[in-house]
This record gives sequence, structure tokens and C-alpha cells, in this order.
Amino acid sequence: MTKIRTRYAPSPTGKMHVGNLRSALYEFLIAKHADGDFMLRIEDTDQERFVEGATEIIYSTLEKAGLQHDEGPDKDGGFGPYVQSERMKTGIYLKYAKELIDKGEAYYCFCDKERLASLKTEIVEGKEIMIYDKHCLSLSKEEVEKNLAAGMPYVIRQNNPTEGTTTFHDELYGDITVNNSELDDMILIKSDGYPTYNFANVVDDHTMNITHVVRGNEYLSSSPKYTRLYEAFGWQVPVYVHLPLITDENHKKLSKRSGHSSFEDLMEQGFLPEAVVNYIALLGWSPEDNREIFSLEELIKEFDYRRISKSPAVFDMVKLRWMNGEYLKAMDMDRFFPMAEPFLREALGDGFDLEKIAAMVKTRIEVFPDIAGQVDFFKELPSYDVEMYTHKKMKTDKASSLEVLTELLPLLEAQEDYSNDALYQTLLSYVEKKGCKNGYVMWPVRTAVSGKQMTPAGATEIMEILGKEESLKRICTGIEKLQKES
Ligand code: GLU
Repeated sequence: MTKIRTRYAPSPTGKMHVGNLRSALYEFLIAKHADGDFMLRIEDTDQERFVEGATEIIYSTLEKAGLQHDEGPDKDGGFGPYVQSERMKTGIYLKYAKELIDKGEAYYCFCDKERLASLKTEIVEGKEIMIYDKHCLSLSKEEVEKNLAAGMPYVIRQNNPTEGTTTFHDELYGDITVNNSELDDMILIKSDGYPTYNFANVVDDHTMNITHVVRGNEYLSSSPKYTRLYEAFGWQVPVYVHLPLITDENHKKLSKRSGHSSFEDLMEQGFLPEAVVNYIALLGWSPEDNREIFSLEELIKEFDYRRISKSPAVFDMVKLRWMNGEYLKAMDMDRFFPMAEPFLREALGDGFDLEKIAAMVKTRIEVFPDIAGQVDFFKELPSYDVEMYTHKKMKTDKASSLEVLTELLPLLEAQEDYSNDALYQTLLSYVEKKGCKNGYVMWPVRTAVSGKQMTPAGATEIMEILGKEESLKRICTGIEKLQKES
């Protein structure tokens, strides 16, 4: 059996878009599921779109996402060079283009800009496309030689038939048959000598022994032309998996503004790489059961590209946040604390037991930046509405709270041990003496020491962090507030 070989073939044009990361992930999973090789190829033939530093982003994103390639520009596996501009210098694309010319499947074209501009255009998928009229196909061999010798600029075009049909197969979309008359004579080699993506992807996938190609479905309409190239060369066509579009919650294109367009954007918002990878795996693919949390190892085991759905995948930020929260909950404290610490420090500064506070918030946040909103009350008592003391379920109101806090104050003043356990005992014995429910006492105390409806911990845990002086100060503030109301 042939070894499964997949490739991620990004163009270094900027940040790594979520759609690209999904292609990379699926390619990685297909290869690893079958003990195959996952290769990285840099497609930099469009020099105008090249962005400085973009290749570094590709490396760092793959590394952070855990999608380690077996071969690539930095890891020779015998199929290099792995960067198309370097491949070009070896003459590989021109060699194969000439082979097609010899077979009558391609031809030199010397038409200048003016002539091309005068040709008729067609609107294909919203874009204005020029249909080349095969003018240069009729040049004699001698004319071509003469033009080349004179150094006339040229491109090499594919020579597609004007009759008959071409059928292309995609694993998800099935057989797609098009009339050859619809296939324009696309450029294979540009006037700057670089191959187009259209040509290079075929030559490279074949010469690099690629068995499975995963990419966005924007390439679907060009694929019959690639099939014709494979057929012209007599090469075996790889398995194609074209992925449906990823949209935002409003079924619009993912945008920077909504925060989910690139891996970097998501990292900046504090998502964990493994949660993002897990979430992206589910953008179009689903396992046989309803399971949602998968480590990369588990994805490798479970992934089957035949279970990818054709319908557009919706990127749901709420769901990703939930998933990230699940990863935080499951994380060891040893890993969680160093990651949470900068956020805690920024919110609280020095003087707090950050490790203890980290343990409190761990199960309550979805992303690290949520920390500030959870812990800000430790630093300073927020101004709160006195109505918060009224809680139906706890059967508390302003009067009962005033009574509880006033009665507790001397006990808490007398107490020296401000550990959670000791404080809890004090409150419990007060509850017992009063013959009331816990909440009747805990609610007003927690309200007084936090000024918040929701806190990451109970009253006495908060008091332990605050210490005696600050706790008493806050309880006195509560008493004053309540007195004003009565
Ligand atoms: N360089 C192309 C892109 O970044 C790759 C498409 C493919 O995977 O064939 O969109």
C-alpha cells in the first residue's frame, strides 16, 4: 500500500486564517491517522502578495497548534526544496511545462497587455474573467522560436479542448463534470518565470508523492483544469477533499472585527491552542457519537475525512468560549497558575495570595482575560446596591442582614485566626445559635465583603484572602449602608 502523504501548502501572505488552520489540521489528521507523513510546502509564487514575516507566522502557528510537520523547508525529507520559489530555480516547472508543450497540451503565448485587454470577458462567480482566444496556439514552431530568440516576453498556457467534457472527483462533492468549452487556457508559467498556483500545485503534489489534498472549496471550480493536467502527464490524481466555507454566526465571512478570523486573533483573546484546535476540528467534521472534547491524540485516532459535512460551518464564539473553559477546568494547577498569574497580577498587583485566588477562578472562567472581572473586588470593594442584601431564596432582606452583620461584628473583631476553616466555624456556630439556615448568614456576609452578586468563592474564603482588617472594614461599610436605609 502506498504511504499516505499530505501537505499543508500555505501562501505566506499574513496571519493564519482559521480556514487555513482547518485545512492544515485535517491534512495532519489524515496523515497521522494512517501513520503517514505530513508535509509543509511554502507557496510563494505570487511575489506581489508575499508578506515579510508571514513564513515565521506559519511555523509558529503550526508549532503552537501541535501540528508538527514531518517534512518542510526546515526538515528535509528527500522531496525538497519545499519552497516554491526555490523549486522554480531548479527549473522543475519550466521542464514540465515544456513537456506539455511537446504533447500539444500547452503553448507559448506572446500576446501583449493591449491585445489581452481587447479580449472579451465573462463573469464567473462574481469575478470578471478574460477568456483567452487561443490566438498564439496557431503560431508556427518557427515563429515561436523567433520570438523566444528575440527575447519577447511570454507566458505558457494550458491548451484545453473546446469540445467534450472533463470529470473531476472530490471525496465530499462526488463527481463534477464540466464542458471543456468552459475551461479557459489558464496560464501555467507567468511572464516573470514563476509558475502559477494552478500549475505548481499539480507539479508539486505529484513530484512530492502527495496522496491526499485538503483545501478550501474556492479551488473546486479550477479543479477540472488540474485533472486535465494530471491526465496530460499521465499522473495519478490525488484524493481531493474540498472543505466548505466557515462563516460567522451571521453567516457572513469571518472577519478580524468579530475576532475569529485568524489563529493569532484567537490567541490574543486568550484562547488555548488546544481548545482552538479541538474546536476547529469540529468545524465541518463530527465523530460518530456526540462527543466534543478531543485531544489531538484522540482526534488522530477518530478522524475520518469521509465524515466531513458539505454544509457551511458556523464559527460560534460562544461555543469556543465554553470549550476553552472546559480545557481550563481540566488543566493541572501546575500549568494553570503560571498562565493565569500575569492576568491575576495585572488585576490585583502584589499583596495577595495569587495561587489561592487562581484556584478559586479556575472553574469559573472561560478565557484568561475573564479573570479581571472575577477578582477585581479583592483589590477594592466595588460600590454596590444595598438591594443586593435582599435574596428571596436565602430569605434575607435589608433588616435581617443588618441584624446579622451587627451581631457578627464583635465576634469577628475578637477572632484572631482568619483562616477559612476558623472563620467558617465561627459563622456556623452563629447559625446554630440563631437557628437559621446557612444562607441567611452567609449571604449578607459575602455581599458585605465582596460587593458582588457572584463571586468565585464563599464568604469565609474571601475573608481569608482579604485578611482581618480589610474584612472588618467591609463589614462595617455594609452595616453603615444598611443603617442608612433603615
Ligand atoms: N497556497 C494555497 C493557499 O494558501 C494552497 C491551496 C492548496 O492547499 O492547494 O490557499
